[in-house]
Amino acid sequence: MKQYPRPLAKLIGELSKLPGIGYKTAQRLAFHILSLDDMEAKNLADAIVKAKEEMKYCSVCGNLTDKDPCIICSDPTRRTDIICVVESPKDVAAMERIRDYNGQYHVLNGVISPMEGIGPDDINLKSLITRLQKTDVQELIVATNPNIEGEATAMYIARLIKPAGIKVTRIAHGLPVGGDLEYADEVTLLKAVEGRREL
Ligand SMILES: [Zn+2]
Repeated sequence: MKQYPRPLAKLIGELSKLPGIGYKTAQRLAFHILSLDDMEAKNLADAIVKAKEEMKYCSVCGNLTDKDPCIICSDPTRRTDIICVVESPKDVAAMERIRDYNGQYHVLNGVISPMEGIGPDDINLKSLITRLQKTDVQELIVATNPNIEGEATAMYIARLIKPAGIKVTRIAHGLPVGGDLEYADEVTLLKAVEGRREL
């Protein structure tokens, strides 16, 4: 591999750590960044630093937000008797795109994965229990991804919550097994929510 001067090699190295960015793409992006004028490059760098500084996790639902509680948790027009449990903030965005769902969310920011040593205490689950004790939630829709970890997490949550008398449902139809919620088109996702079954 050709040796680049250190600052350029460093930039390529950092970019190639991003998901979906291989070395070649990182190279192309790095050269593009160097071709920007100073202001544009600074804006890009500032956007990264500012987003990192100002975005935090909502103390109620765990979604990424710049205000705490987030706009969904503090929206008085939304239903409070139903919570949709998802793996990541990207899934909240996917669910919001179908515009049919008007309840609350709970973002786990992870899934239970014994293979990777991730247990129930490593994801945002404890705050869900506290939340359920304080509110009058009737139904919990578990919308974790339809893969092994997502299913295992859904089963764990169902076992944990059902004794409290709360209906726990799982989105089902239409989503390809092994697929990701964030890539599902709106119709598929809407069908999945409509076809949810009780766990
Ligand atoms: Zn929130």
